[in-house]
Amino acid sequence: MILLRCPRCDQVAELDDLMCCQCGAELGFHPPSLTMVTCGPTGTTTDDGRWVWCSQRDRLNCNWLRDLALDTEECFACHVVRRRPEADQDSAWEKLAQASSPKRRLLVQLAVLGLPVETFRDQKGGLAFDLLSSKSSGENVTIGHSNGVITIDLAESLDDHREKLRVQLGEPYRTMLGHFRHEVGHYYQWKLVEQTDFIGESRALFGDERASYSDALDRHYAQGAPEDWHESFISEYATMHPWEDFAETFAHYLHITDTLSTVALGGVVLQGERSDGVLERDVVPRVSYAEASTEEMVDDWHWLSLLLNRASRAMGRRDLYPFTLPEPVVRKLDFVHRVVGATGRVTDRPILIGAAE
Ligand SMILES: [Zn+2]
Ligand SMILES: [Zn+2]
Repeated sequence: MILLRCPRCDQVAELDDLMCCQCGAELGFHPPSLTMVTCGPTGTTTDDGRWVWCSQRDRLNCNWLRDLALDTEECFACHVVRRRPEADQDSAWEKLAQASSPKRRLLVQLAVLGLPVETFRDQKGGLAFDLLSSKSSGENVTIGHSNGVITIDLAESLDDHREKLRVQLGEPYRTMLGHFRHEVGHYYQWKLVEQTDFIGESRALFGDERASYSDALDRHYAQGAPEDWHESFISEYATMHPWEDFAETFAHYLHITDTLSTVALGGVVLQGERSDGVLERDVVPRVSYAEASTEEMVDDWHWLSLLLNRASRAMGRRDLYPFTLPEPVVRKLDFVHRVVGATGRVTDRPILIGAAE
């Protein structure tokens, strides 16, 4: 969704890189500009002040920089975490380091979309993450969202554990990034839909979110999804409750826009005339769909995801995107697109910096 480069040698850098793979420069991610800068242990000076490494650079492989003027040792992405495992729980911290990568990716995407990221340190009900492990703490950790706090079970960083759950629950896709995207969907539903004029339309599309959640939960796990769920839902889980339908749709909006823009930044264009009749037109993915309609986005995604699925199968893997988007789901995606459009991109607020305490 953004293309990062090493400022010293111009090599493409990945979001998590601590060091340039070509020239060995020590890299730091500068949150306000969403760019990589070269930064060693003594820090670096940018247009907006003095920046130094996050204190979690070694333990969590965090490559974000923090503003030296702020009274915190941690970068914005680490400081938005409210609870984490005890410092002496090494295996939980290994999982925490793994989960921190999709969390940073999520925060970058929210910034790119222009969605507000006020944290619990700035305001009551602001975004917070409780990143805890059900395997290490002995405590019951349930993935979910409540009043701004997103709880993630770090045990899902373990491939065998997550895959077991995926099979048990009959899900075609289960990733840590998917969890973050789904839960932040609950957060924005609460912030940007329930507390705004969007709520009426939301109820018409997704159903009334005031329906009992515990009843819905019991029903879902007793009876499963209705047989015809694919006709109007993105997943079986989405059928459980209007809240889950919105969160699932929101997660897919993030999946689709991130993947399309990543491919666009790689210069990919699908040429109709070279496709032997497979493509009806040239497909030119966009870096941003802010100015595009949902129909354009979904149509680009249709052709691109078909290709990515075939490429994935060519490697003996499951489909990259094992979902289909029937018309009712496209209307729900359009709702998310309009909520994001109305809220995001309308502000020149500084992003991903955090407030002084
Ligand atoms: Zn370099
Ligand atoms: Zn950090």
